[in-house]
Amino acid sequence: VTTYWCEWAWLGDAEAPAVPGATITVEDDRIVWVEAGAASPPPDAVALRGLTVPGLANAHSHAFQRALRGRTQGEVGSFWSWRDRMYDLAARLDPDTYRALATATFAEMALAGFTCVGEFHYLHHDPAGRPYADPNAMGRALVDAAGAAGVRLTLLDTCYLQAGPGTAPGPVQRRFADAGVGAWAGRASALAEEQSTGRAVRIGAAVHSVRAVDPSSIEVVAAWAGARRTPLHAHVSEQPRENDECVAAHGMTPVNLFERHGALGERFTAVHATHVTAEDVARLAASGSSVCLCPTTERDLADGVAPTGAFRASGVPMCVGTDSHALIDGFEEARAVELDERLVARRRGTHTPGELLAMATASGYRSLGWPDGGRIEPGALADLTSVRLDSVRLAGADPAAAIASVVFGSAAADVHHVVVGGDVVVAGGQHRRIDVAAALEAAIAPVWA
Ligand SMILES: [Zn+2]
Repeated sequence: VTTYWCEWAWLGDAEAPAVPGATITVEDDRIVWVEAGAASPPPDAVALRGLTVPGLANAHSHAFQRALRGRTQGEVGSFWSWRDRMYDLAARLDPDTYRALATATFAEMALAGFTCVGEFHYLHHDPAGRPYADPNAMGRALVDAAGAAGVRLTLLDTCYLQAGPGTAPGPVQRRFADAGVGAWAGRASALAEEQSTGRAVRIGAAVHSVRAVDPSSIEVVAAWAGARRTPLHAHVSEQPRENDECVAAHGMTPVNLFERHGALGERFTAVHATHVTAEDVARLAASGSSVCLCPTTERDLADGVAPTGAFRASGVPMCVGTDSHALIDGFEEARAVELDERLVARRRGTHTPGELLAMATASGYRSLGWPDGGRIEPGALADLTSVRLDSVRLAGADPAAAIASVVFGSAAADVHHVVVGGDVVVAGGQHRRIDVAAALEAAIAPVWA
C-alpha cells in the first residue's frame, strides 16, 4: 500500500476544478481511497508537488515512426510523399530494431506523462512479406517494449490486405499484409490468447483504412473485435483523396462504409476523422463511436483540421494520439484540439480546459479498452501523472486555475512523476529504468546507417 499526497489533484471530471491537498491510497495496481483537504502530507505519504492528473492515454501511435522525427519535417510535399519516406523506414526494420525503437519511444511517452498507449501495429512480416518463424515476432516485440518502458499497452493488431480496391500490396506493403482476412484473424487470435494473462496488455483490432481492407474483410475484423469485446480502430478520412477513392469504389464515404459493414459502435474509434461530412458525424454519434485526433501529426502532414466543434455538439467522444511522433507531448495534442478550432471557427472556448484534459485521459482509456482508467477514484487503475507548476513555463500560474495552466502552458518536460499500475515509472523527471535520450539514439542511428 502506498499513499500519495498531491499538492493539487484533478480527479478526472471535466466539469470540476483541481482540488488542493488530495490523499490517494494505492493498493497493488488500483486506487483504493481518495480524500481531499489535507493541507500537508500525512506521515509516510509520498508528496507529489504541482498538479496530479490521471495518467495520459496516447490513443494512436506508430512507435517506429519516431525515427522519422526531424528527417521529414523540412520537406516540400504532401501526406503521400511523406508516406514514401515512412515506407523507406518500414522496409529497414526487423524484430530487434522494432523492439529497440518501440522501447525508447514508449519510454519517451512515459517521460511525457503517458501511462497507456494504443499501438496501431501493421508491420507484421519480413520484408518479403513472409511470416517470421514466430508469426507474431513483431507484435511480441511491442509487448516486450511496453513492459520495458513501463507503460500500459493496447496492441491494435491491424488488418492490411491490399494497396487499394482490387490492387495487390506494393513492395513495402507486402510486409504489412496477411494472406487474407482469415490469416489475419488466426494470427491476431494467437497473439490475443498468448497475452490474455498480461495485466497491463490488451490485444485489440484495427482496420488500416478503407484503402487497405475490402468491405467483406472489414465485417470479419469487426466481428472478431465484437466477439472478444475489444477495441476496434481504423484510420478514417485523413485525406480528401481517400474519400474520393472510397466514393468511386463503393459509392459512399468511409464512415458510411464502416457503418454498413458493422464496424461502428461503442468500441470503435475513427482515427483522424478530418474530412467527414455532417452525415458522417451523425453516424458516429448515433453509434456511440469515438474519434481520435492527432493534431501535431495532422498539421505536420498538411491533412487539415477535424470538425471538433461538430463532434462536441453531437456528443462524439474525442481522444488524442501522437501518431507519427513528430512530437510526443500530450498537453500539446490536447490544446491543439481547441486552438485549431479557434483558427477555423474564429471563436475561442469551444472546448473547456477540463474537456481537453478528459480527452487526453479518460476518453483515451475508454477508446483503448480500459474503462476503469483515466480517473482518480476508488477502484480505478493506479495510473497517475504529476506536473510541475513551478517550472519556467508555469511559474506564477494561478493554482486555482491549474488545469488551464497545464493544458495551455505546460510541456512534456514539466512531468516529474509517473505511476503506472501502482509502479513508479518516472521520478524526479527521470525514467527509473531507461536513459531515454541514449536509448533513442541507440535505436535510431543504426536504422539509418
Ligand atoms: Zn496512424
